[in-house]
Amino acid sequence: MNSVIGYCHCQKVKFKVKADSLSKNFYKCDCSLCKKKSITMKFLSKEDFNLVYGEDFLISYKWNKKIAQHFFCKICGVYTHHIRRRDPSQISINVECIEDFSISEDDVIELVNGSTHD
Ligand SMILES: [Zn+2]
Repeated sequence: MNSVIGYCHCQKVKFKVKADSLSKNFYKCDCSLCKKKSITMKFLSKEDFNLVYGEDFLISYKWNKKIAQHFFCKICGVYTHHIRRRDPSQISINVECIEDFSISEDDVIELVNGSTHD
């Protein structure tokens, strides 16, 4: 599997995603949580996401319906990924965690309605 690596800031948490699952459609969300984090995300199926290490450093934050789980590193505070409420077989990742990755002008960043995305 051709994969790319993502880390939180302090690198206690490492994950791997299938490279071709990282196509050029990303999203931002206007819900009260995502707005404050100002993150650009990408959702993928659970099989394309692999937590390499750092499970002990992850804290999950749940709010509202308390189904989605938003994970962040308890050392550096960086949000890495979350399990979606709408479809728990999907994971959204913080694309800024991906090594050597940057969003280009050609990439589409969709703004999604926070009441439907998580
Ligand atoms: Zn960290």
